[in-house]
Amino acid sequence: MAETTIFLQDACLQHKYIRNKHKSNVVERPERLRAVNVGISAAIARLESTQQPELNEEKPANNEVGELVDVMGKMRLGSPAADIGPSVVPIVKSQATVDILNNPAVKFIHGDIEGDVYLENLKNWAKDSWDEISQGRSEIPQGLAQGDLYLCPESINAIQGALGTVCEAVDRVLDSEDSLKRAFVAVRPPGHHCGEDTPSGFCFVNNVAVAAAHAHLKHNVKRVVIFDIDLHHGNGTQSIVWSINEETHRQTLEAEGGAPSPEKMGPKIYYGSIHDILSYPCEDGSPALVQAASVSIHKSHGQYIENIHLQTYESEDHFWNVLYKEQYSRLITRAGEFLEETGGAGEDVLVFISCGMDACEHEYPSMSRHNRKVPTSFYHRFTRDARVFADKYASGKLISVLEGGYSDLALASGSMAHVCGLAGSDKVDEEWWNIKNLTELTQLELEKATKKRRGGRPSLNANNDTIPSWLERTVTIFNSIDQTTAKISGHSVPVPPSGRTLRDRSKLSNTQSERSVSEPQKKTTPRKSAGGSTAAARKPRSSIDPVASSSNRKKPRPSVDSVVTSQPEDSSSDSSSLAEFSDLEQRNAPVVLTQDRKQVPRVVLKLGKKPEELEK
Ligand SMILES: [Zn+2]
Repeated sequence: MAETTIFLQDACLQHKYIRNKHKSNVVERPERLRAVNVGISAAIARLESTQQPELNEEKPANNEVGELVDVMGKMRLGSPAADIGPSVVPIVKSQATVDILNNPAVKFIHGDIEGDVYLENLKNWAKDSWDEISQGRSEIPQGLAQGDLYLCPESINAIQGALGTVCEAVDRVLDSEDSLKRAFVAVRPPGHHCGEDTPSGFCFVNNVAVAAAHAHLKHNVKRVVIFDIDLHHGNGTQSIVWSINEETHRQTLEAEGGAPSPEKMGPKIYYGSIHDILSYPCEDGSPALVQAASVSIHKSHGQYIENIHLQTYESEDHFWNVLYKEQYSRLITRAGEFLEETGGAGEDVLVFISCGMDACEHEYPSMSRHNRKVPTSFYHRFTRDARVFADKYASGKLISVLEGGYSDLALASGSMAHVCGLAGSDKVDEEWWNIKNLTELTQLELEKATKKRRGGRPSLNANNDTIPSWLERTVTIFNSIDQTTAKISGHSVPVPPSGRTLRDRSKLSNTQSERSVSEPQKKTTPRKSAGGSTAAARKPRSSIDPVASSSNRKKPRPSVDSVVTSQPEDSSSDSSSLAEFSDLEQRNAPVVLTQDRKQVPRVVLKLGKKPEELEK
């Protein structure tokens, strides 16, 4: 029986940049999910091949698929997405969604006692985005980072679909009748930079935090472990975790002091992150953000938080035998101490991975400019170690949710290694994602195979060799799950009378633009306790979360023209794979996974280069 399942959500393709036509600047794009789908498909194809060792790689692929169907048809394999035949890792194409104004878990994380101010605003921002842009204004209210955030009317479908899908994965994993233990939920926009009511860094709601709240409220999960392996610090998740732990700690102290216990005590959450301390959100050196991304606190004040800074590795040997062994693995060790401290293994424990692929060695150089990254195999080995951890403490229950990751190669290779780690076969070969094999997943091979498949079955490549069966199977799976081209549609782009593209660097060059926002009208309210009663304490608003709220619908909007600017990093960037990848509705392009061409997008958002560097 399949213990690992992939969850996809086509609604996530609907969130896109409509401010102007220069979408190639925007690294958080719908096509990211296409690259992830390539990685997922390749992982499944490879994993299937290990279950059929007698199959000859050179045999005609159609026969192999037929044999696989015969053999695996006898297994219970959940509900596959489409006509790919049964798979070792079932794929669910989720239709789940939530209404963010009417969902207890979303309210638990992002709501307010006095009404869901932020959530209502978010809905309105998306709804009005087209009108605002058409009238020359930004769809993102003044005070929020214009370069890090964008919305379109359909963004709300993507946001609510992503939340619905992570909650569906939680329901499945925590259903004792279901054999499913582990899930990879490939959704966007990402979530880990979003605090309670502070969208930033492409994130509007915190998918993992809402999933944890859902697990707590609906399934009585009391202890949650979150491993965040994105390149960037999950400042939003940490700030939310801090607030929740603070409230739970207060409840605990009051109960110990003889006060009546709330109906249901809040959850305890461990948050552990490995990240580049020089990158977003710390790139400007903001003391509060840098300090938050460096916190290590265990048990005191009811907090369980570990932050580990990525370092440059000299060689794979150095990475694994020094950095991973002596430092990075502390992420898991500390989580073990948290659970031992709070009662040991139990049915009330759930483990999450905030899985950003942007630390991958194949990420854009501009994203990895501090040279703090990980070998692709990290996404396999860390996941394997997290799986062992979940087996020990949480009856195997482990849910991974996509965060960042921007180059096609990082997303495809990272997802491939990650899914192999989740599925847990001891026959995984890390050579599967070596550069030679990854190159076989490049545009040329996959495009060729895809075209031939559509016109018949693929036969020969340029070397007169049979297309490897794993690659043909990859194409079959990919074609059955990927809706990227079909689903990226909608509004045509209103082009303001300016050749400039995204943001006002002069503004953003002076530290966190969000910090200029204040929200005097916003009430400071206590976090709701799990039982629904309003806690007497003030809403925890820890000092590690300095980013002020901006929920005021009435704030004036900057004009689109004032928030956009065009500063191509260099002229060669026009030929980057990203630029080509971003115009799919015009090109109807096949998968693009280039390895040898220069992969330097015109990164404009804050996750990319510093503004001052771009202006050079
Ligand atoms: Zn990231």
